[in-house]
Amino acid sequence: MAAGRSWGRYPVTSERVVPLSDRLAPLPPAQLPVLPLGNARSYGDSCLNDGGILLSTKNLDRFIAFDPSTGVVTCETGVQFADILDLVVPQGWFLPVTPGTRFVTVGGAIANDVHGKNHHRAGTFGHHIIAFELLRTDGSRLLCTPEENADWFAATIGGLGLTGLVTWARIQLRRIAGPWMASETHRFESLEEFFSISDASDSDYEYTVSWIDCVASGKALGRGLFSRANHAPANPDMRPLPSGRRLSVPLTPPFSLINSLSLKAFNHLYYHRQRKRVEHSTVHYEPFFYPLDSVVNWNRAYGPRGFLQYQCVIPPQFAFDGMAELIKEISRSGTGSFLAVLKQFGQSPSRGMLSFPRPGTTLALDFPNEGKTTFDLLRRLDDVVADAGGAVYPAKDARMSGPHFRTYFPHWKAFGAFIDPGISSSFWRRVSE
Ligand SMILES: Cc1cc2nc3c(=O)[nH]c(=O)nc-3n(C[C@H](O)[C@H](O)[C@H](O)COP(=O)(O)OP(=O)(O)OC[C@H]3O[C@@H](n4cnc5c(N)ncnc54)[C@H](O)[C@@H]3O)c2cc1C
Repeated sequence: MAAGRSWGRYPVTSERVVPLSDRLAPLPPAQLPVLPLGNARSYGDSCLNDGGILLSTKNLDRFIAFDPSTGVVTCETGVQFADILDLVVPQGWFLPVTPGTRFVTVGGAIANDVHGKNHHRAGTFGHHIIAFELLRTDGSRLLCTPEENADWFAATIGGLGLTGLVTWARIQLRRIAGPWMASETHRFESLEEFFSISDASDSDYEYTVSWIDCVASGKALGRGLFSRANHAPANPDMRPLPSGRRLSVPLTPPFSLINSLSLKAFNHLYYHRQRKRVEHSTVHYEPFFYPLDSVVNWNRAYGPRGFLQYQCVIPPQFAFDGMAELIKEISRSGTGSFLAVLKQFGQSPSRGMLSFPRPGTTLALDFPNEGKTTFDLLRRLDDVVADAGGAVYPAKDARMSGPHFRTYFPHWKAFGAFIDPGISSSFWRRVSE
């Protein structure tokens, strides 16, 4: 058994990793519970299986078909978003939905039904899945589409890898004219202003997202930078593409580099870095969608104890008060991350039974793991979210309680009928007990 770690480097578990390389072969026989593993870009324990087996899809990385006239791609589920982009962007296509890193696999993106900056227009990744194959540990295979085996389709999208291994998937891409984004950034001074810019942007901008200063308080509570963008109509002035050079955090420092002093200084500088109220720019899609990917292993900066990411959503009727309460609580604690992200989700209901996105406002940020103080703070945030009828995102979670999970995801019981008896995860054991 080797030590397993997800992106937040907490918790540390112990499991055996078994690589898969043939999508046509049955799953290897196992005495212990198994769990499919993508690229371990989930932050907590939803991709971990303490004491069990992880079935790595790293080598299930082949493209099966791509039709450049329709933008339909079929591939094995260990294929990463970065590989899809490399193939399709030069041919005028783009991922329909992408999270903030391109180093996720198609299987991981289905199992967490990931969302991006265009949720208000495009919904989640699951909305763009045409079909996939589900392989169960008993050897059965199900072709799942929105019409065929529709209940399995709904259980597997956002199903946290618990319904079986998705061997391949067919995805509808969206057309683009080129790799550039026409973007603008608005500085806003309060949470009220965030909501009004967001409401005004939804219909004209495909992508919207905000950075907020999570340590600001009082009148400045919720201040930040609102970014909105569309794909640029054509390659504007043929700038050179980014060099591909990336910075790296080469080793884990003995303590977290993110503390209340560095946080306050960074947030202040970052907020004031934009002098004008509105700035326009044309940027390549890579830094626009994946700013963190340019720093390899940035997760090490939090030191050996790792960090906890927190992402929640609060429904529209309580969004303003709920977000204000959460940000106040975080600002009071003096902890948090450089990157606190606020965004409004759109109305389209997710296709997955356990999908996290739903109408409302979502907040995401990291917390260095400082033990009990951090866990107590996150529990207080959970209570605010539960009282407001919201939810916490399993892909980012390592510690929410079972009762909280079951309140956030009322379909969890019905979902139980679709769990493969040979599959389990550290997350599932924790929240279902
Ligand atoms: C920097 C960063 C930014 C992020 N931004 C966002 C964001 O904007 N929006 C968002 O939604 N998420 C975001 N995430 C989270 C990330 O998109 C998800 O955790 C994603 O699921 C990770 O994919 P993965 O391939 O690494 O899967 P893993 O983390 O390895 O696994 C995730 C889940 O998928 C299951 N799984 C993997 N492969 C298969 C398969 N073939 N069949 C069945 N189940 C499978 C696993 O069992 C597990 O439950 C971000 C993560 C990082 C590190």
